[in-house]
Amino acid sequence: MAKPIRPLSVDLRNKIAAGEVIERPASVVKELVENSIDAGATRIDVVVEVGGEQLIQVTDDGSGINAEDLELAFERYATSKIAVADDLFKINSLGFRGEALASISSVADIEIESCPSTSDTGNSLNIRNGEASPVQPAPAVQGTRITVRNLFSRLPARRKFLKTPRTELRHIVSMIRRFALAHPQIAFRLNADGRELFNLSPEKFPHRIGAVFDPTYRENINKVEFSKGQFTIAGAIGNLNLVRTRPGEQYLFLNGRYINNRLLNSAVYSGYHSLIKRGEYPFFVLNLSLPAREIDVNVHPMKLEVRFKDEWRIYHVLKSAIEESLQDVEQTIPEFEQTAAPIEIVPDKGPVPDRRSDAIPAGNGQVKFPSHSASEDLSPRQQTAGLERAKSYASQLAAGGAAGTDDWLVSEGIFQIHNKYIVAEISSGMVIIDQHVAHERILFEEAQAAFEQHPIGAQTLLFPEVLEFAPDEFSTLLDVVPALEKIGFRLKEFGKNTIMVEAVPAVMGWGNERGVIRDLLDHYTSHRQEHSSYQDAVAASFACHAAIKAGDPLSKEEMQVLVNQLFATKHPYHCPHGRPIIVQLSLKELDKRFER
Ligand code: ADP
Ligand code: MG
Repeated sequence: MAKPIRPLSVDLRNKIAAGEVIERPASVVKELVENSIDAGATRIDVVVEVGGEQLIQVTDDGSGINAEDLELAFERYATSKIAVADDLFKINSLGFRGEALASISSVADIEIESCPSTSDTGNSLNIRNGEASPVQPAPAVQGTRITVRNLFSRLPARRKFLKTPRTELRHIVSMIRRFALAHPQIAFRLNADGRELFNLSPEKFPHRIGAVFDPTYRENINKVEFSKGQFTIAGAIGNLNLVRTRPGEQYLFLNGRYINNRLLNSAVYSGYHSLIKRGEYPFFVLNLSLPAREIDVNVHPMKLEVRFKDEWRIYHVLKSAIEESLQDVEQTIPEFEQTAAPIEIVPDKGPVPDRRSDAIPAGNGQVKFPSHSASEDLSPRQQTAGLERAKSYASQLAAGGAAGTDDWLVSEGIFQIHNKYIVAEISSGMVIIDQHVAHERILFEEAQAAFEQHPIGAQTLLFPEVLEFAPDEFSTLLDVVPALEKIGFRLKEFGKNTIMVEAVPAVMGWGNERGVIRDLLDHYTSHRQEHSSYQDAVAASFACHAAIKAGDPLSKEEMQVLVNQLFATKHPYHCPHGRPIIVQLSLKELDKRFER
């Protein structure tokens, strides 16, 4: 039997619209701040509590709303920004769909206070449980303040999708960061649970980059400036010091609106040519301006996607603007800090390792590696375990290969090839060991042991280094500080979003703590899902970054230490990411190949 068709109630219609527009607290922040910008605000204050679930308040000094329009502002498809169909193709405001306030009021309690510039009285209105109160007088402070409480409290199903307050706050911080970058002439403040995360004065664009990220960003950016007819590109791109191993610092704005556009992002990447590799992401903040008739912003409820009349033309222009900005390649060569070495490191080990971008340079340009002799650094338990394991590995090999002896390593027969692999002669043939993953495995297990009982030794820095982070990175850092301390870092909170590094793990190169802690955080952020615990993720990140690299020359003694330590680990055959560490070639196999 056919079911009867009924029009949905207004409340239900708004809830459905809210489903598209209001995904999480950061979406509320986005809609409110967009309205403030559209109202011509010069300062916007945002206050949030408990990741925005409990409270989101946005205050601006913009044009305000007339008393008679207050209720209308909460009606769906009611807007002051467009009036006729033609307007859809010349949109110059961030909003135009007239659904944000209606959507928010259907999923949260909301209060608005507003005073238009032309009036000497303010007005306020409450909407609780979808019921609007009558309009009341309010203080005559020019602008608008909107307070949103109890988001999704009447929609438990939605609420369940929210992540922890800290994660939701991170989304809010990224949202504010986008607005702040696109609108440097506006003062922004963000206060979360009583902590001030941003307090930005109106400023010139390059200063804003320093204020929003950390001050070193300013020294590592190239200006981008391009214009052709009515098409302009303005902004900044990072040099290789700002290249990261995960995406996240790519900001593309179109007429002041943040957009997601893979094609245009890839135009920027390809402008870097071979300066970056796959899996590397340069920093950029670019604002494209195009006449409104060249684009269609009405394709996505959250307006994150935009349709262009001629996307490929923009692709090519953007790419050449990037190439032009990068012309001065010298500006883009990464610089590693050179600090005087306060501690002894590896004695003479032949040539200085090459300083490729994935090497962690130590203070004097050498890569630090445990410099002790073959077995003195291993506990007796480890030494025996190592020997046992070596023997059992040798006999495993023997079982499938040449018969006979239980002798593992033929001590003189150990070589390094291409500064990358260790080739060792064993009685049943030979093994090839990948030096980086081998060391990674050793350090991974050392870090795991450090979490349980044996903290890794720290080496105090003569000159502690102060590092400043973006607020969201800083909060990730705070999550992992206890684990970092167990593996030998000594970190002290040093004011807002800033830490002081007093010591680093004894097994690690130093002189580039900034890079190391950043890389470690990047790695941790992008790989934490792969590990069963956050500690394992920290251990893997540490191991990956502290391990000797492919390209580091090793002495015979160092190779022996490495091989011994490797065989003292619980899983010498695979690195924490599952890559093989050892490849073997039996004598039998060799004989066969040489037709002996
Ligand atoms: P839209 O922004 O798409 O027009 P909204 O639901 O976000 O729709 O807002 C409805 C209307 O309320 C806006 O068109 C604007 O006139 C008014 N408004 C909302 N917020 C503000 C603000 N902070 N200052 C001035 N006017 C505002
Ligand atoms: Mg709006």
